[in-house]
Amino acid sequence: MEISFLDIQRITASFEPGLSSEVQRVISSGWYLLGEEVAKFEKAFAGYCDNVHCVGVANGLDALTLVLMAWREMYGWQEGDEVIVPANTYIASILAVTRAGLVPVLCEPDEEDALMDASLVESLITPRTKVIMPVHLYGQVCNMDVLRRIATEYGVKLMDDCAQAHGALYKGVRVGALADASAFSFYPGKNLGALGDGGAVVTSDRLLAQTVRTLANYGSRQKYMNQYKGINSRLDELQAAVLSLKLPRLDADNDRRRRIARRYMREITHPEILLPKVHSWLGHVFHVFVVRSSHRDELQRYLSANGVSTLVHYPIPPHKQEAYREWNHLSLPVTGRIHREVLSLPISPVMTDEEVARVIEVVNSFRTGDI
Ligand SMILES: *Cc1c(COP(=O)(O)O)cnc(C)c1O
Repeated sequence: MEISFLDIQRITASFEPGLSSEVQRVISSGWYLLGEEVAKFEKAFAGYCDNVHCVGVANGLDALTLVLMAWREMYGWQEGDEVIVPANTYIASILAVTRAGLVPVLCEPDEEDALMDASLVESLITPRTKVIMPVHLYGQVCNMDVLRRIATEYGVKLMDDCAQAHGALYKGVRVGALADASAFSFYPGKNLGALGDGGAVVTSDRLLAQTVRTLANYGSRQKYMNQYKGINSRLDELQAAVLSLKLPRLDADNDRRRRIARRYMREITHPEILLPKVHSWLGHVFHVFVVRSSHRDELQRYLSANGVSTLVHYPIPPHKQEAYREWNHLSLPVTGRIHREVLSLPISPVMTDEEVARVIEVVNSFRTGDI
C-alpha cells in the first residue's frame, strides 16, 4: 500500500460532478474577474468566519502584505517600523513584512506547541513596533487572549496568519474573527483549497477592507484614479466559484482530520516519537500532523521505504535562508531544534481508515538503525 502525503486528486474528485459543472458554468458566463462569484464567496467566507468583511485576493502572501500596506497608508507608518513574527513560520509570513517595507522581529516559539511564545512577545516590543503577527501554525490557534492583551496595552495591531487554520476555533470564536485583520491562503493543499492560487483578508474594520481592496486594484477605487501605489491582486471568478462549492464541507472535512489525528494520538506509541501538543480539539484543524523525533531523517527514510510519504514543515528556518543572510548569524535554539526534528505524517479528509491504520503500523515498527 502506497500512501501519499496529500492526495489532492482524490480531494478534487470527491467534489465531482458538482465541481466541473460549476467551473463550466463560470467558463460559459464569459466573466472571469471582479464579478458575482467573488462577491458571493466573500460574503459566504466572512459569514463563515463570523466576521463582516472579506476581500478576495490572489494568494496568501498578498493577503498578508496588503493588510500591512493598508495600515501603512492609513496610519502613516514609516519604513523600518516593526512587526513581531514567529521565527519558525513558513517564510511567506516574513516575506510579507519585508515586502511592505517593515522590519520583521523574530519571536521564538514555545517548544511544546511550536506556536509563537506569547510570554516572549512583550520583551520584543519597541517604540517602533506596529503589529504582532501570530501564525496559527499546523492548524492550531495561538494564545490569542495574551496577545490581544499585549496589543491593547501597547496600542499595536494584531494580524493573524490563518493560512493553515481555516475553521479553527479559539474559546468558541472562529479564526478570522480573533484579530484586527486575518489573512488566508487558498493554495490547493490548504484545508480550504482552490484549483490554483487564491487568498483573502477578513476583518471587521470597514476602512481597512476598503483600503485593501483599493490597494489590490492598482491603488484605484475609482476607475483611472490612483490613490496609492498599489498592486494587482485578484481572486478570480473560477477560483471563487470553486471555493464557494467547497466551503460548506469545510467543517466536516476538518472533523475528519481531527478523527484521524485522534487515532494517531492514541495509537502511535513509539517511545522515540513525540506526539503534538493539542490544546483543544476544536481549536485545531490539523492542516498538518507534526511529530518530532531526534531521528527524524532516519524515520522519514524508513517510512518512505515502507510506502508512507511524509514532508518536513520546514527543513530550514527563515533566519538560516540565503534570502535573509543578515540573520544567518542569529541563534534561535528552539526554532533550530524544531526544524531539525519535525516530520509531518499524511493527513487529509479523504484518507481511508485502512491508510490511517497502515501509517500507524509502519510508524510504530520503526527501529533506529533499521535503515
Ligand atoms: C501557505 C502559507 C502562506 C502563503 O500562502 P500562499 O497562498 O501560498 O501565498 C502564508 N503563511 C503560511 C503559514 C502558509 O502556510
